[in-house]
Amino acid sequence: TEAYLSEIEGAGALNAFVHHTPDQARDQARAADARIAKGDAPDMCGIPLGIKDLFCTKGVASQAASGILNGFKPEYESTVTTQLFDAGAVMLGKLNMDEFAMGSSNETSVYGNVVNPWKNDDRDLTPGGSSGGSAAAVAADLCAAATGTDTGGSIRQPAAFTGITGIKPTYGRVSRWGIVAFASSLDQAGPMTKDVRDAAIMLETMCGHDPKDSTSADLPVPNFEAMLTGDIKGKVIGIPKEYRMDGMPAEIEKLWSEGTAMLKAAGAEIRDISLPHTKYALPAYYVIAPAEASSNLARYDGVRFGHRAKLAQGDGITEMYEKTRAEGFGAEVQRRVMVGTYVLSAGFYDAYYNRARKVRTLIKRDFETVFNDGIDAILTPATPSAAFGLGENMDPIQMYLNDVFTVTVNLAGLPGIAIPAGLDDKGLPLGLQLIGRPWEEGDLLNVAYTLE
Ligand code: GLN
Repeated sequence: TEAYLSEIEGAGALNAFVHHTPDQARDQARAADARIAKGDAPDMCGIPLGIKDLFCTKGVASQAASGILNGFKPEYESTVTTQLFDAGAVMLGKLNMDEFAMGSSNETSVYGNVVNPWKNDDRDLTPGGSSGGSAAAVAADLCAAATGTDTGGSIRQPAAFTGITGIKPTYGRVSRWGIVAFASSLDQAGPMTKDVRDAAIMLETMCGHDPKDSTSADLPVPNFEAMLTGDIKGKVIGIPKEYRMDGMPAEIEKLWSEGTAMLKAAGAEIRDISLPHTKYALPAYYVIAPAEASSNLARYDGVRFGHRAKLAQGDGITEMYEKTRAEGFGAEVQRRVMVGTYVLSAGFYDAYYNRARKVRTLIKRDFETVFNDGIDAILTPATPSAAFGLGENMDPIQMYLNDVFTVTVNLAGLPGIAIPAGLDDKGLPLGLQLIGRPWEEGDLLNVAYTLE
């Protein structure tokens, strides 16, 4: 813990940590030492973690990187952080992210961008988003591991951009209670770690049934680490043809075929598959996610949480809402609220929101069909490119294209993992994604383990 605290001190330029909690870290570390001395120590005991700012942590600023939550210190602890701390994990501080987890570059944060520890010559790159602070902190050794959340790719894309491992579990595996909501039917938390073994250990601690989240599954949590046998003989891996996009960079093609060859060499059977509705995933996601966000973000009204605008003489409650929300939300969040309320409005609901929900069902069925045909896991690239430069990708539509390989997994509620898979010709990390059957994170982690 002391070593990581001093690393964090020296790494301010990355802007990964936005709230520092050294006192809490030292208290938790001392308590962990005592448990270890008594021989009562779970695997996570004493492990120094960074926590994404989206998690509510009791008495510690939890702002979802938004101005509207300025000064908000929750009176409660999220289920995930409760479970981690009960297992003896240590919180070093809170990590930067895109505002309300909306973004793919960590550039929408009220705290400013995060810098990727990997550079292209001397050019600063984004670490991806929205869990950009988590990814940069793990990659730069500012913490042993970090929590992330993933609504459309926010664990997997930044993991790929920084050369680390990140898993989004099956929807319902990890409690959402106490995590600031973005799009509730898509949001899941997961670990961001140095390797697959760490991910297995940390995921097990994060999982479990929680009566406080009505979508949390009441299923036993396996010992994921024990499932890392490295034996994938006879497993059937699907390669979806729709993910071979026009204009895909040669280096991404190459990484994908190398990954396929490695799985084959490890004894897996490789099969070409089709997921025909893939091309509708991004448009459906960018209707459903903003719709849910516009509803979730209605609670930031200047009364209950954080920021309230200064009012002029004669201002009423409407002016208070308007001024508070105009000041407190950044441009991307305002864009999502506007899109979301538009697609939910009476005249357009059927044309947009209902249509997107139907498309979502078709995407889910595509996956069910291939899993019923015997596919155990699906291999794809994690992102369409390596990390891009800060400020380089400011057009929103261009930015949304980053999620092309990851959003399908959230729409279908499946587990997905990104693992580092080598460097491109500029020396930047690239990631592969594996998609698994629902609730079979253990098998998925094991396939990923053979690719390490
Ligand atoms: N980049 C996607 C978005 O902006 C996904 C974000 C996420 O997974 N939280 O919505």
